[in-house]
Amino acid sequence: TVESKDRDTRAPSTGKPAVTHDSVINLDHGDPTMFEAFWRETGDAAEIVIPGWQTMSYFSDVTNVCWFLEPDFDQQVRRLHRTVGNAAVDGYHVLVGTGSTQLFMAALYALAPPNADGAGEPMSVVSTAPYYSSYPAVTDFLRSGLFRWGGDADTFVGDTYIELVCSPNNPDGAIREAVLSSDAGKAVHDLAYYWPQYTPITRRADHDIMLFTVSKSTGHAGTRIGWALVKDREVARRMTKFVELNTIGVSKDSQLRAAKVLRAVSDGYDDEHSSGGAMRSHRLFDFGRRKMVERWSMLRAAAAASGIFSLPDETIGYCNFANETAGNNPAFAWLRCDREDVVDCAGFLRGHKILTRCGSQFGADTRYVRVSMLDRDDAFDFFVRRLASLK
Ligand code: PMP
Repeated sequence: TVESKDRDTRAPSTGKPAVTHDSVINLDHGDPTMFEAFWRETGDAAEIVIPGWQTMSYFSDVTNVCWFLEPDFDQQVRRLHRTVGNAAVDGYHVLVGTGSTQLFMAALYALAPPNADGAGEPMSVVSTAPYYSSYPAVTDFLRSGLFRWGGDADTFVGDTYIELVCSPNNPDGAIREAVLSSDAGKAVHDLAYYWPQYTPITRRADHDIMLFTVSKSTGHAGTRIGWALVKDREVARRMTKFVELNTIGVSKDSQLRAAKVLRAVSDGYDDEHSSGGAMRSHRLFDFGRRKMVERWSMLRAAAAASGIFSLPDETIGYCNFANETAGNNPAFAWLRCDREDVVDCAGFLRGHKILTRCGSQFGADTRYVRVSMLDRDDAFDFFVRRLASLK
């Protein structure tokens, strides 16, 4: 059909022009276009058709705390976590958000009730530096009276706070635990990168609030779907209230698409679906890990060839999902320029047409930059080649 012909020849959907040897290479955002190559090969396993009359109601399941959550998305989220073993789902509420970014805001709203500290002061939101640059930006952009960015958790003094724990951490890939503990303090665990392509799955996480997103697990950032696993019903109710006030729910079309995508991922690892079938060759985490291992080894070789950059050391662990020892392969490279005269590493790389995010945005030194490891092959190849040539 015309449709399928279009599908095969269509240009990449993000509208980025092809990269050539003198192009500006933009690795500032963590745009996960690396995964397109995988999903191009999955045929109709991740396709959906939505008739004109479907997904019209605001409501999905009015008996659920999260009344706009599509039951199929709920089921596929739980199934994937059981398949991977990265997070507990029994006894948890699943909440859906427009990206995990919306659920991050919902968590702040839910955990910072008015007058939380008795003095009418906004609750402090903290995270150990280097922290994900969106945390301060998203916390403060509406100047809420409920919560306020409080900076580095390591130097925070006080008992009431919301600590954001990102593990593996954006930007440096470190495995993290909460550093603060007090009865009045709360933690939100952002586990966007706790998937086998990035890190060994060493334990089944079972924190009170855990955030995930298809953006980093499957690469479908444009679908704008994230989810939260929440233990406490009242917290789940308040988070749901935030999404209701903010966007009256979350696109059902996107939830159905995300459910289909997650289903395809789980099917790849489910013997019933994959034995002798097409899905066995379509194993997302195998593809992702292979790619990331290859890219990290290329990057380490390029940094060594240049002699002026350093990277975090590789760590290894036993992956309960892959049943083997595996290294970590972060979604970002936390790159340090060791040349004495280069104080602004992002500026230095910009001069060589490589766009990265400056360390200062993560509460760190400007000798550091964060570089996305998830772009398409051509951009990544030009990036490592250029990096290797810098002296
Ligand atoms: N948390 C972390 C640590 C991230 O890196 C990102 C994406 N860069 C997000 C959350 C947001 O993801 P989403 O696209 O689901 O809003």
